[in-house]
Amino acid sequence: MTNQLAVGVDLGGTTVKTALIDSGGTVIAQSKLPTLAEVNPPAVIGQIKRAIRDVLPHAAGRTVAGIGIGAPGLIQNPGGIVKSPPNLNGWDEVPLADEIRREFGLRVEVDNDANVAAVAEAKFGAGRTHRDFLFIIWGTGVGGGIILNGEIYRGTTGGAGEVGHISIDHNGLLCNCGTRGCVEAYVGQKYLSKRTAEKVRSSPSSKILELAGGDPERITPLFISQAAEAGDDLAKEVLVEAGTLLGVMIGGVMSTLDFRITVIGGGVSAVGDFVYDAILRSVRNNVQKPLRDGIRIVRAELGNDAGVFGAAGMVL
Ligand SMILES: [Zn+2]
Repeated sequence: MTNQLAVGVDLGGTTVKTALIDSGGTVIAQSKLPTLAEVNPPAVIGQIKRAIRDVLPHAAGRTVAGIGIGAPGLIQNPGGIVKSPPNLNGWDEVPLADEIRREFGLRVEVDNDANVAAVAEAKFGAGRTHRDFLFIIWGTGVGGGIILNGEIYRGTTGGAGEVGHISIDHNGLLCNCGTRGCVEAYVGQKYLSKRTAEKVRSSPSSKILELAGGDPERITPLFISQAAEAGDDLAKEVLVEAGTLLGVMIGGVMSTLDFRITVIGGGVSAVGDFVYDAILRSVRNNVQKPLRDGIRIVRAELGNDAGVFGAAGMVL
């Protein structure tokens, strides 16, 4: 394969990160501008165009395959229409792909953060040697992306891969999407912290509480993880339970798609190996026997750079 170039744009609530990247994963040029989210959509689009103009000249005459953009909110594909992104003022529905295509005359792809991170792992990270895998972003919520034949699978309207809203208990906790028992309502950062705060009340000597400065409201997955590393039983119990619940959902997806690999990234995914062991045990218990061989749960490799790499990866 020839070494192509692409522009990747990571549109965040505060900054627009942009990079010109080659298909080998080398960053040729990069730019970081304020999003101007508090102004209005034309201002934000202006910043995206400015950022692309900053990096494009560094192609120095080499062909640029296109521009990929990772954006918050719901993305309607095909079309790259960004709908109601949180944290972007006055932004209802914007045909972002068209806007950028008109300006630069290049191929433009727009997708949501989780799908973009999945593409980043497929092209440059933990999934690069696998044609098919499930990607999970375990952080504030639980997002996902399905990589099929090395490409993101988007479904009919672009909504495929929202695995955080798979219910694991029809009588379970109410999720903010309105459904009961979504796995996100148990293991998403906010819910995990809240449930741990309740448990800590009956184990006040837990190291978790000490790390949170004695205030259950200040408990975060990082403190739970640190307490577990220090040998705290409650912390280990909470994380093993979270891993087990996540594994129930993953097992269902692996069964549906006959996949063997799940790559997990996101803030909470920094937890210790024992949590990954719990996830794997649970996945194996939740798929049929003939599918169990070769199931693996692996850590994502790209971290904070996943946004620009995955965005560029969509057009490479
Ligand atoms: Zn939900």
